[in-house]
Amino acid sequence: MEDVCVWSLEPIGMFTIKSMWNGLRSIGPSVSWALFVWNKHLPPRLSILGWLWVHGKMLTDDMNQAKAVHLPSRCDLCVKNAESFIHLFLECSFYLEIWSKTVVMFNVAWKKMASVNELINWWKNKGKGWSLKDPWMIGMMITIAAIWNERNARRYKDKNWCLSMIYAIKREISFVCSKLKFSSKSVDDLILCRRFHFENASHVSHKTLEIHWGKPMRSWAKLNVNGCSLGNSGRARRGGILQDHNGRLLLCFNFFLGVTTSFIVEIVSID
Ligand SMILES: [Zn+2]
Repeated sequence: MEDVCVWSLEPIGMFTIKSMWNGLRSIGPSVSWALFVWNKHLPPRLSILGWLWVHGKMLTDDMNQAKAVHLPSRCDLCVKNAESFIHLFLECSFYLEIWSKTVVMFNVAWKKMASVNELINWWKNKGKGWSLKDPWMIGMMITIAAIWNERNARRYKDKNWCLSMIYAIKREISFVCSKLKFSSKSVDDLILCRRFHFENASHVSHKTLEIHWGKPMRSWAKLNVNGCSLGNSGRARRGGILQDHNGRLLLCFNFFLGVTTSFIVEIVSID
């Protein structure tokens, strides 16, 4: 019988690059921060900074003091407290404001975190199943870099970019994610894509339309009404909203109409 070469790392005996790589590398335990730091769309400079951040290895004053370099310490961002890693990224009032504004750009409400792990897990959970998960994850690393750059600019260059920081963060997210493709599943996601100028964004829903609300003329008010019935005919409800020429809410209402058809509801809605 003739000898045959067999690649023992594959069940079928055929050589593959994947099996060779898996045979060579040692697989470490999975960590919650891997999706942030090793995101394939993230520039290497941000991956390296992110790795230092999740390991608490950035050269803040408390790190220098741990190496027996005892110098006076003051946070360059809030100018109130001594600088430490925890203060700079989790407690500083400046930090809280920047993080808050960043997450609001994504229509997410901010909450104060007690540790880096809590922040990472909270951020990760918010991104689960979201069509804009990549920009959201990348946004975290970009914000960390922005805070660190601001701290260094104040300390070593005597510069202060705080007024334009949030715009710089938004611009960087737009730039890093400019080549990504998105399939937004909701109108909110589509609006977010527009906000970040993601040009490769599409909408997958066949039922939702992108519409624009136009302001009425000055001193006028606009009434928008709608109604629907569940099952046509079925349980029906109508509602409306009255807004002035600045878009300010003047009045809103909704009423249960009993069991009827969609046609009747639409007519009754403007009654
Ligand atoms: Zn501070």
